[in-house]
Amino acid sequence: MAVKVCKFGGTSMADGNVINGVKKIIEGDRERKYVVVSAPGKRYSGDTKVTDLLYACQDELEAFGTCKKSFAAVRARFISIVKELNLDFDIESILIETERRIESEKSRDFTASRGEYLSAQVVARVLGAKFIDAENVIFFGESGALDGEKSYKAIVEAVKDCDLAVFPGFYGRGVDGRVKTFSRGGSDISGAIVARAVNASLYENWTDVSGFLACDPRIVDSPKRIKRISYKELRELSYMGANVLHSESIFPVRKANIPIVIKNTFRPEDEGTEILPSSRYTPSGNIVTGIAGKKNFTVIFIEKSLMNSEVGFIAKVLEEVAREGVSIEHIPSGIDTMSLVIASENLGDQKLSRILEGIRNAVEPDIIRVIENIALVATVGHGMSSSVGTSARLFNAIAAANINIKMIDQGSSELNIVVGVKNEDYERCIKAIYAEFFGKNQN
Ligand code: ADP
Ligand code: ASP
Ligand code: MG
Repeated sequence: MAVKVCKFGGTSMADGNVINGVKKIIEGDRERKYVVVSAPGKRYSGDTKVTDLLYACQDELEAFGTCKKSFAAVRARFISIVKELNLDFDIESILIETERRIESEKSRDFTASRGEYLSAQVVARVLGAKFIDAENVIFFGESGALDGEKSYKAIVEAVKDCDLAVFPGFYGRGVDGRVKTFSRGGSDISGAIVARAVNASLYENWTDVSGFLACDPRIVDSPKRIKRISYKELRELSYMGANVLHSESIFPVRKANIPIVIKNTFRPEDEGTEILPSSRYTPSGNIVTGIAGKKNFTVIFIEKSLMNSEVGFIAKVLEEVAREGVSIEHIPSGIDTMSLVIASENLGDQKLSRILEGIRNAVEPDIIRVIENIALVATVGHGMSSSVGTSARLFNAIAAANINIKMIDQGSSELNIVVGVKNEDYERCIKAIYAEFFGKNQN
C-alpha cells in the first residue's frame, strides 16, 4: 500500500480544537500513516509560539540557574491543550520530568526541542499511535549535517509492524549523543526525512495557508496560489525568504523523487500546491512563478580598473571573507566591479571592518564602499529565461514605483533575478513586481 507522510506545522498544533481537525484529516485517508508535528504555534496574532517560550526558558536558565518562571507558560499551554482535547493523559508528570531535564541538560537545543517532543506525545495519544522519539531515529554526522543513511535505517526499523506513528519534528541526535535541532522551521526537514525513509508516495505538508502563494500574503493581500512548482523554483523561493517550507526540506525527498503537497489544515478540501521533481513537472505557462525576499543585507562594493585581467583577484577577495567564517549570499560582478552581498547579522563583532581591511591589503581596490540596510527581492520562474523582455518589465515596474535599485544579480540558472533595494522599499518593491506579473490579465 502507498504511504503518505504528513507534517503538521505550529498553527495546526495551536489548540485542542485544531488538533481534533488534524485527527480528522489523518483518519480520512488510510494511507496517512506517518505523522510529524511541530510545537504549538500562535493561536492569535500577538500570541507566542511554544518554541519561543522555550528559548525564553533557556535564557532564564542561563541567567538564574532555573527556568521555573518561563516554563510556567509552556506548562499552561500543554495543560490547556490536553483539557480541550478531553484526554485522559497524565501530561502533568511528563511536564515535571521535562522541566527537570531542561534544568539538568542545560542545552539550548535540548530546551528548544521540547515543544515538538510534548506535542508529539499529545498527538500520539489523540490518534492512538506509536510515539517515536526523533532522538532515536534522526542522526547528525560529524560535520553537523544530517547522517541520512543512518537515520533512514533507524526510521524503517522503528516503524516496522506499526500502522500509525507520530514523530516530533525539528530535532535529532548529534554525534556527541546530545539532542540537536535544525534551524528554525526545521520540522519541515524532519517530515522530508521520514518521507524519504519510508519511501512515501507523497509528503503532505499541512500548514495555515492553502498552498505556496506567489508572494508573502503578509505583504500582498490574497496573492495567487501557485498550483504547481518545481523543486528548483521552490528551493530558490524558500531560500530567499518564502518560509512556508524550509529551504532544506527538499533535499531528502528530491533524490527519491517524492512529490510534496502544501495543504491547509483549516481548509483541507482546498487543492494546495504540488511541488514536483523536474521529470514530473510541466511548466504552468506563467513567466514568473513567485516572488520572495529578505531584509537586512550588507553590500561591499569593490571597483578596480582591469580587475578581470588580474589573476586570482576574486579568489583573494573571497579568502578575506572566508577567513572570518562568513558566508556570502550573492556575488554580482561587472568588468571592473564586484559586490559581495552578505547577511548583516553575520558581520557583527568587528567582522566587517576586519574584512574591509583585509580586502584593502590583499587587492588594493580603487574604490571600496559599504551599503547597509539592503533588502533582496528574488523574482523566480522557469518561464523567465525564454520570455523576451522579462527583465525590462521587472526593472520598469520597480522604477515606476519610484524605487532605486542598488544591485542586480541574475542567477546563472536563469531561473531568477535578484534585486537589492533599501530595506524601507522592500514591501513596495514586492507589491510593484506582483502587480506587473500577476495583476489583471498578466503573466
Ligand atoms: P507552519 O507553522 O505550518 O510550519 P509557517 O509559519 O512556517 O507555518 O509557514 C506558513 C506561513 O508562511 C504562512 O502563514 C505565511 O504567512 C508565510 N508565507 C510567507 N511567504 C509565503 C508564500 N509565498 N506562500 C505562502 N505562505 C507564505
Ligand atoms: N518549532 C520550531 C520553530 O518554531 C520548528 C518548526 O516549527 O518547524 O522554529
Ligand atoms: Mg514552518
